[in-house]
Amino acid sequence: MNLFDFTDGREGYYGEYGGTFLPEILHTTIEELKLEFRKAKEDPAFWQEFLQLMQSYSGRPTPVSYLENLSKKLGGAQIYVKREDLNHTGSHKINNVMGQGLLVKRMGKTRIIAETGAGQHGYATATMGARFGFDTKIYMGAHDVARQRPNVFWMENMGAEVVAVTDGQQTLKDAINECLRDWVTNMDNTHYVLGTACGPHPFPEMVSWFQSIIGKEARQQMLDNAGGLPDRIFACVGGGSNAMGLFQGFLDDEAVELVGCEAGGLGEGKGNHASRLAYKDASVGVAQGMKTYFLQNDDGNMLETHSVAAGLDYIGVNPVLVHLWEKERVRFEAVTDDEVTEALKMAMLTEGIIPALESAHGFAQAIKEAATMKPSERVLINMSGRGDKDIFTIADALGDEHWKRFIAQKADEYKAEKEG
Ligand SMILES: *Cc1c(COP(=O)(O)O)cnc(C)c1O
Repeated sequence: MNLFDFTDGREGYYGEYGGTFLPEILHTTIEELKLEFRKAKEDPAFWQEFLQLMQSYSGRPTPVSYLENLSKKLGGAQIYVKREDLNHTGSHKINNVMGQGLLVKRMGKTRIIAETGAGQHGYATATMGARFGFDTKIYMGAHDVARQRPNVFWMENMGAEVVAVTDGQQTLKDAINECLRDWVTNMDNTHYVLGTACGPHPFPEMVSWFQSIIGKEARQQMLDNAGGLPDRIFACVGGGSNAMGLFQGFLDDEAVELVGCEAGGLGEGKGNHASRLAYKDASVGVAQGMKTYFLQNDDGNMLETHSVAAGLDYIGVNPVLVHLWEKERVRFEAVTDDEVTEALKMAMLTEGIIPALESAHGFAQAIKEAATMKPSERVLINMSGRGDKDIFTIADALGDEHWKRFIAQKADEYKAEKEG
């Protein structure tokens, strides 16, 4: 299935979803990006350059691990995990930013900008900016800057300028607006590094293409090391980039079922979660450069969302996934915060691995389903990132008293130092 063959359709559309909805003034710069991306995609040397960079800088190929203890414990399907957590910076996000970095070089631009909510994408972008020697500016809602100090700390130490946006709610939406303003003003030398497979065409296709490295590797690794293809594969879905990355490797294998796992948060009910497709609270709209499903109210204002996993806490979703969902090629499920915490504990205790809270959504759904499957069947989970970054949230979710005491003690030390 070639999702990106537009010869008999409208370029950048997947069914009725996708498109390029941007102010006219950005037309030239988007056209330039489209052209450069098209050339790169058709040039085998570019993909080789990307592979080599990811190998030497990020440790690719990442392995597929067999979870023998967990499989035995559940007594159902054999469970395998694609280890995107072992990438440099600890998640799949680096695949996309390094790929875009190579394109920026080809376009001869010298400056990059990005927006970030939880800070993970800002962190990856700052890394890429330092490596390529670009001038890097990261927009973040002031509220998020305050909440996400560890990521801000790393961004600044890698030489990026972090701008705390004080408009509106001071969160991601306001950072996006500010970032777009910067792009309009500086598009001659500046590239906007989008962090997920959303936004105007060509971003959904381009980000998915860089992330397809996950699925390409995983399919071969299952054949070589697991004795055959998986029966079902699971990936968490925020904007949809790690899911698109994994799924593309298996799209033509009709017997492989593709399962997208969304943030069910506190459960059903508007405002309680960030599930666009599994729960029926979202509707079709045009925003942030694309037409897709959004969590919005009747006048098109975006709803509040909730998830324990900051990276899944997003109102929109990749238009290709929506199209595949309508065609019943991808199944969507929602996983609640409580289920995520249980899955995370089980992964740590039985296998000694720490999935990111986002990735634990895939684990939770896979654990639920694997238990009802036959031992001759296989499931594959995309571990999109590592959970070390979530130590504050996970310790809270587990109610760890020693951790709370440690934080309080640190705070006392700083206070004494300041007063001393
Ligand atoms: C950002 C992030 C996600 C969500 O983004 P997608 O584009 O949906 O992949 C998932 N997992 C981790 C670890 C992340 O950092």
